[in-house]
Amino acid sequence: MTGLYPRPEAPSYISPTLVIAFEACPAKAGFGRDPSVVGLRRTGPAAAVGIIAHEVLAAAGAGVAFDDVWSASAGSAFEKLAAQWAPATPPQPSQWPNWALTRERVKVKFGDSDTHGSFVNSVTDDVRASRLQHVTLLASMSPQLDSVKNAYTPLPWIERQLFDSDTRMMGIPDLVEEHDGQVVIVDHKTGTAREGAEADHELQLRLYAALVSAELGVSRVRLEIHNASGQVRLVESSPGLVDDAVAIAQRAHASLLAAERGEEQLSGKPAPKTCGGCPFRGVCRAYLEAPPGDRRAGRAFAFDVLEVDDAGARQGIWARVIAPVEQQGRVRITGFPFADEPEIGSRWGASDFELREGHARGHWTTLLHPLQ
Ligand code: SF4
Repeated sequence: MTGLYPRPEAPSYISPTLVIAFEACPAKAGFGRDPSVVGLRRTGPAAAVGIIAHEVLAAAGAGVAFDDVWSASAGSAFEKLAAQWAPATPPQPSQWPNWALTRERVKVKFGDSDTHGSFVNSVTDDVRASRLQHVTLLASMSPQLDSVKNAYTPLPWIERQLFDSDTRMMGIPDLVEEHDGQVVIVDHKTGTAREGAEADHELQLRLYAALVSAELGVSRVRLEIHNASGQVRLVESSPGLVDDAVAIAQRAHASLLAAERGEEQLSGKPAPKTCGGCPFRGVCRAYLEAPPGDRRAGRAFAFDVLEVDDAGARQGIWARVIAPVEQQGRVRITGFPFADEPEIGSRWGASDFELREGHARGHWTTLLHPLQ
């Protein structure tokens, strides 16, 4: 048996995001809440570019120069990435994916905001105010979250946090408003939808429906998904479908709580599609023991340290790969981000490296974690 099962810290209230993650792979959802391995989940350069774009647009219209905001945001993103990936050193931002293209596009939007006033900023301010108001309220009333229902604020709600102590669910719908006497929940989807995303979106919206119904005491709400081109998709919201969604959330929550107590092991769902970008591949027992067809060959393995070079482990070690089965054998490893010299015989899991002819070479994105 090689690799780990997650031992998560279960949340008091489960969110639609966690329910969807659990449905995709219970083990991945569990690792994401397991303090011993959650450090493997780090911001990548592509995500960092997205964060910079968002930050810069949020500052548009405030009378600051684009170049100054972009440089400050890029500098801070680089520092955060370097801290997360130490002892590895990430490349400079200008080498991150889509850097130049994103910068040009954001610059154009930033200029539009300067001319017409900041849409992004006004929304952000509303969101901030709404969140602050609600979070302050919760803090003063916690843990009696039921009493929040009495603190009704009129619609519309923009990104308001909702809690239901009966179902132990929470969520933050983009917008809840009233149209012609009907409560409408709007979710904005701006990115390109990945395969299978439709079912996830429906589950998310139905969980919001349960939360909003409980908060407002209405029996039925209208669910709308708005995409970037302004198209609206309706999601069915019959009471039966909403109840099914709540049951899925409660099953997921019960499993996470049982795993926290050590009464249940969260199973993985190894498949090329789910595991491809998963940062927990190097430690996940389900992945390491899956049939070869369910893995991306050569991108993750578990190994025992046999010998360490005199010049240090980052210069090179000899190791024995113990899983996956098709990679078992002696291997030379160089450039892996060991913080200290590993002990002979210690066991490790690693992912994101090159493997050729018995030689595994680390990259700055190589993830490494002890398996004992
Ligand atoms: S490696 Fe695959 S099976 Fe394991 S946690 Fe990640 S997605 Fe799930």
